[in-house]
Amino acid sequence: MIDAGPVDPAAQVTRSGGVPLAPSGTVWPCCAECSGPMQFLAQVVLDDLAGEVEGRGVLALFACQNDPGMCGDWEPDSGGNRAFLFPAEDLVPLPQPADADETLLQLGSVRTVSLVQVGEPDYDLAGEEWATRNGRPASSVLGQLGGTPAWIQNDETPVCPSCASRMSLIVQLEEGPDHSTAMNFGGCGGAYAFACEPCGSAKFLWQC
Ligand SMILES: [Zn+2]
Ligand SMILES: [Zn+2]
Repeated sequence: MIDAGPVDPAAQVTRSGGVPLAPSGTVWPCCAECSGPMQFLAQVVLDDLAGEVEGRGVLALFACQNDPGMCGDWEPDSGGNRAFLFPAEDLVPLPQPADADETLLQLGSVRTVSLVQVGEPDYDLAGEEWATRNGRPASSVLGQLGGTPAWIQNDETPVCPSCASRMSLIVQLEEGPDHSTAMNFGGCGGAYAFACEPCGSAKFLWQC
């Protein structure tokens, strides 16, 4: 996933930042630890994954940033973050909670991505090679869609809460090239989002 710059904040495309899209009636998620509203980080259109299947849904990622480091937002089961797998149809901008600080709910920039296919199977090497070959900074690489997680720490592949099978990687995300508007994964970390599409479940964690 290569940084492709700003996009309409409500576009139904794979992006970080902007406005979350959700089925009508969805309530903005709050942190199980501190009860505050979470920050919307990113959405991923699953149709962008390799394959011919259409209408696979949209993954939406949120994490608590009310008191960074205090709510376990790096853990898949702490309640300090949320991942949703929404159906692809009939999504609308999710209304913000009343009286919330908008700068806590949204990132300071909206970035979409372009997708490139590389032969190198190792994620870190693939990114370095692509950046060198194209004369772009390594920070233009914003992650990988599908594939195998390139763990910074131990393998933490979650299991589906409904069927107990290991979940599939949907996206691995870098924080972003601009620190003032980047997602917070500990300062130089990466996030990993998983789904079990048959069960409609999703989980999210980050490491650094
Ligand atoms: Zn919290
Ligand atoms: Zn499942």
